[in-house]
Amino acid sequence: MVTEEEVRNALKNVMDPELGRSIVDMGMVREIRIADGEVNVVLALTAAGCPLRDRIVNDVKAAIRSLDGALITNVQLAEMTAEERAKAFGAPEKRRPLAEAFNDVKHVIAVMSGKGGVGKSSVAALLAIALRKKGERVGLLDADITGPSIPRMFGLHEPPKWSPFGMVPVVSSTGIKVMSINLLLRDESEAVVWRGPLISEAIKQFWGDVLWERLDTLVIDLPPGTSDATLTVMQSIPLSGVLLVTSPQDLAGMVVRKAARMAQTLNIPILGLVENMSYVQCPACGHKIDIFGPSQAEETARALGIPMLGQIPLDPELAMRCDNGQVELYTGDVFDPIAARVVELVPEAKSKPLSS
Ligand code: ADP
Repeated sequence: MVTEEEVRNALKNVMDPELGRSIVDMGMVREIRIADGEVNVVLALTAAGCPLRDRIVNDVKAAIRSLDGALITNVQLAEMTAEERAKAFGAPEKRRPLAEAFNDVKHVIAVMSGKGGVGKSSVAALLAIALRKKGERVGLLDADITGPSIPRMFGLHEPPKWSPFGMVPVVSSTGIKVMSINLLLRDESEAVVWRGPLISEAIKQFWGDVLWERLDTLVIDLPPGTSDATLTVMQSIPLSGVLLVTSPQDLAGMVVRKAARMAQTLNIPILGLVENMSYVQCPACGHKIDIFGPSQAEETARALGIPMLGQIPLDPELAMRCDNGQVELYTGDVFDPIAARVVELVPEAKSKPLSS
């Protein structure tokens, strides 16, 4: 016969998939009753409508089954009280991340776009690769948690290792230190259901709990738009500057203007604007075709008072390399002068984080 303690110990291994913490440590296991070969568990969910509740219940049943396959488990669901929630989330973290003490990051450049699909992650990757080619020590933080594509572009699948001082980033084939929530999840689609505050918390941890060590530049791939997660990065990480990415489809440049305003409001220098997918170049004669019509980027940059750093063509090789996990083998060199301008523009003075 199993004891309550044995059941509780087994349940310690069940994690809330959203929060990555043990359901026992979070106080979600309110009650365990064992009688006549049946285990009755009362689980207090963080929210009654928790989208992952079926998964938690299944994990609880599996954990109890692992103690004794003959046991029948009944799980009764409840919702955490305000006090329980405060206990689980409200207590201030006593532990200070150790990794931060070892990190020495000279410049942090965030890559931002007004909307998704303009090639922000590709630009972040190309920037990291170009800086690495110059011999810099480079990190790449994928903060685009709802659409994290950086590990896929670099062909990285192994989870990061843990050291006593923090998480160790995964190193790409050319030596770029990469960290992404995707590398930590069992299922790549999991983070999509995360709520805003949780995403913000994860991003803060990627700054404080990751052992970046000495870097010349950390490139951050921000989520698209002006979400809470973007705000968190801007407020809690000392950014050297923001690189804005747009595409010719953004005709009025309206969404990118909104993004620019966010950075300017928070006093973060905007390094400049990059237009992606600007044209297609004929492989035979080199002629450039503006397939999305004439570019508005120059005008947008002028209106914002920021430098226009360059245009990137729509290039099937780039798409193919990104999809195959070989972005570091991309042979196009159109980004090199843009990266050189970025290096010139990164100001020595970092913006100050607004809150700790
Ligand atoms: P975002 O981060 O803005 O959502 P991505 O960088 O993930 O956009 O790019 C979206 C898709 O477009 C990817 O499949 C990527 O490979 C492709 N892509 C981005 N830029 C280019 C380009 N210049 N030429 C060809 N394909 C591109």
